[in-house]
Amino acid sequence: MGQSDRVVVIGAGVGGLASAIRCAVAGKQTTLLEASAQVGGKLNSLQDSGYTWDTGPSLLTMPWVLDELLQYAGSSLAEELEVIRLPSACRYIWQDGTVFDAHASLPELLDGIHRISPDDVHSFMQFITYAGNIWNLTADPFLYKPFDGLKSFNNGKMLQRTWQLDGLRTMDKAVRSYLHHPYLQQVMNRFATYNGSSPYRTPATFNTIAWAEFALGAFYPRGGMYGITQLLERTARRVGVEIVVNAPVAEISHHNGAVRGVCTSAGQYYDATAVICNVDPQIAYEHFITGAKARAERLKKQELSMSGMAILWGVDRAYDHLDHHTVCFSPDYRAEFADIDAGRLHDAPTIYLNHTIQYDPSHAPAGGQNLFALVNVPAQRGEIDWESAAPVYIERVMDRLAAFGMADIRDRIVVQHVYTPDDFARRYNAPGGAIYGLASNTRMSAFMRPPQRDREIRGLVFCGTGTHPGGGVPLALLSGKHAAGYVLS
Ligand SMILES: Cc1cc2nc3c(=O)[nH]c(=O)nc-3n(C[C@H](O)[C@H](O)[C@H](O)COP(=O)(O)OP(=O)(O)OC[C@H]3O[C@@H](n4cnc5c(N)ncnc54)[C@H](O)[C@@H]3O)c2cc1C
Repeated sequence: MGQSDRVVVIGAGVGGLASAIRCAVAGKQTTLLEASAQVGGKLNSLQDSGYTWDTGPSLLTMPWVLDELLQYAGSSLAEELEVIRLPSACRYIWQDGTVFDAHASLPELLDGIHRISPDDVHSFMQFITYAGNIWNLTADPFLYKPFDGLKSFNNGKMLQRTWQLDGLRTMDKAVRSYLHHPYLQQVMNRFATYNGSSPYRTPATFNTIAWAEFALGAFYPRGGMYGITQLLERTARRVGVEIVVNAPVAEISHHNGAVRGVCTSAGQYYDATAVICNVDPQIAYEHFITGAKARAERLKKQELSMSGMAILWGVDRAYDHLDHHTVCFSPDYRAEFADIDAGRLHDAPTIYLNHTIQYDPSHAPAGGQNLFALVNVPAQRGEIDWESAAPVYIERVMDRLAAFGMADIRDRIVVQHVYTPDDFARRYNAPGGAIYGLASNTRMSAFMRPPQRDREIRGLVFCGTGTHPGGGVPLALLSGKHAAGYVLS
């Protein structure tokens, strides 16, 4: 076959699907090759014994990013999916019985803060204004536009106002400079985990995440997060993307500094003038691209973001004190992150719980609940034998839940599925099972992420969690947008 004008996208995660849709809408012949039997990558779902779970993301933020993609493809989010703004983004609970709901309504939110710490009502308003200012400065150059290293940072407005990005101190330091109560500090520090980092090391710039959730909202697509994957697949097929599943890519071929095509492990070759790789760059450089091992080695030396142990429980009762999203906090957050940093499992972990029966009663048999529990754990560099560690750690998580009104959980489990870092690594080709690619634990992290456009092979572009702007559904969608932009320009 001669060299066609085809774009090949490798991997049908959110980023791969988004880039493929954009290339096809722009008139490119687009082929999407996915290793597994279904598309969606981490944004997937599981059904068993009458229970339905989202197996990855459970929280949708920035839904307008999805809407913009759909509008580009001639539709809109409003036409395709019912997206609910949650009345409370999350319920936070502590072992002493304190409860804090992150209400979308400002008066209710401030009431809740007042109940915990009257002094912090005004401080919270100051904190969130400060976080919003950072958002206003960073959203465009770091998220909505393709990140171009120091050039993105170097525009006049940014240079003059660098100090406002608050990149020199840590998230925790900044949070403590505003909020007095340790529980409210813990709530704000938790946002570091949204990119798999530690609040005690990640730059305070990431306080923007608090703004994104408190001010811009937390959302849920009725039917489940997996509805986004179904919608993206439907849209991709409608605009003419050729989707090939069970097609693991083994090689990206290149010649004279330009990409030539892609070969699957079954030996099927696809000519291409551009390749968008949704697989983590470290894996691609190590396994798919000849002559790129040095780049893989450089990436291997960098710190990975955290991973998680996700437990899916179908239980035969409903724990009514749990909201759609609930966080059961650890008593010592600093010690928890110190353990994770040291590659250890913390003895009293913070447990994130989600269930969807409030909005989708069909996700569990009558009277039951589809619980999704997630604890932060270190990404895997071979230190933890998850086969033996997981059953022990699940017991530990259940012990902890007893302190949060769920003492009978062991007797209520009808069915259980577990995903460890090893599973994330194997299923999604994620180095170390890290959920968000590289960690953002230093001031230079943004500049250390692999660039979207390969500097040595023309026509090779990356998208997804492993590159810019980072992890999470909206950011992966944006990376797909920027990747398509590079190819189409
Ligand atoms: C437990 C968990 C909870 C999360 N919670 C949230 C949340 O609440 N909110 C949020 O916004 N985000 C959350 N995330 C992060 C979010 O899921 C990801 O950032 C996003 O889905 C990743 O998209 P991606 O484009 O990077 O692709 P990925 O999902 O990483 O997909 C990559 C695709 O490439 C395929 N592939 C791999 N190797 C090959 C190959 N050789 N050939 C062809 N295909 C290949 C894989 O099979 C996969 O389909 C969570 C993730 C996890 C795991």
